[in-house]
Amino acid sequence: MKKNAIITIDGWSACGKSTLAKQLAKELGFVYIDSGAMYRAITLYFLRNHIDWTDPKEVEEALKNIKIEFHFNEKSQQSEVFLNDENVEWLIRDLVIAEKVSDVAAIREVRAFAVHQQQLMGKKKRIVMDGRDIGTTVFPHAEVKIFMTADNGTRVERRFKELFEKNPNISLEEVKANLEMRDYIDSNREVSPLRKAEDAILLDNTNLTMEEQLEFALKLVK
Ligand code: C5P
Repeated sequence: MKKNAIITIDGWSACGKSTLAKQLAKELGFVYIDSGAMYRAITLYFLRNHIDWTDPKEVEEALKNIKIEFHFNEKSQQSEVFLNDENVEWLIRDLVIAEKVSDVAAIREVRAFAVHQQQLMGKKKRIVMDGRDIGTTVFPHAEVKIFMTADNGTRVERRFKELFEKNPNISLEEVKANLEMRDYIDSNREVSPLRKAEDAILLDNTNLTMEEQLEFALKLVK
């Protein structure tokens, strides 16, 4: 692989994209960028400010007031997302955001805004970016493209465990319904629907350990 490369990881909700992206970035000394966090932060802004996102003019005005940045937290050794200088990394993982994010991410103006910033972040290369349209729309010429999938039950269980740690009131059914809804909206929207890029390599991690999935991806990269 060239020293200056872009690695894209797309796939269904909760199939371990960010885990693999973080592992790869650490191993290769690349920067990890979580594109989903940008859509989640925009959704948080819209909800807090009661933006009527069915009105394109209102959306465009609102987007002018949104600044999204990623900062590396030395303590947690994680990249965290900031909305207008506020660290919202924790807030955006809430199910309240997950319930609305796919509707917001389907809006043309929102996608144009996010994709433009993602492409700017990719200028320096040496990044691993995960999302839904990274290998198809954001970086169609990326050097390495992975499309991830995992069995539905496995995905629901993994995400349920994550969310339950923060909120013990959450139910498995809620999580299952949310993943199904997001997958449906994300793969059926008009603009940049979730698709495997033709040149992406499929990685099904249902029966893989974290070490095995990293090994698979590293072989591909090298
Ligand atoms: O990756 P994550 O599950 O946090 O993404 C949240 C939502 O953001 C997705 O369900 C999808 O609606 C949207 N998204 C997107 N395009 C991306 C990344 C995320 O539409 N590149």
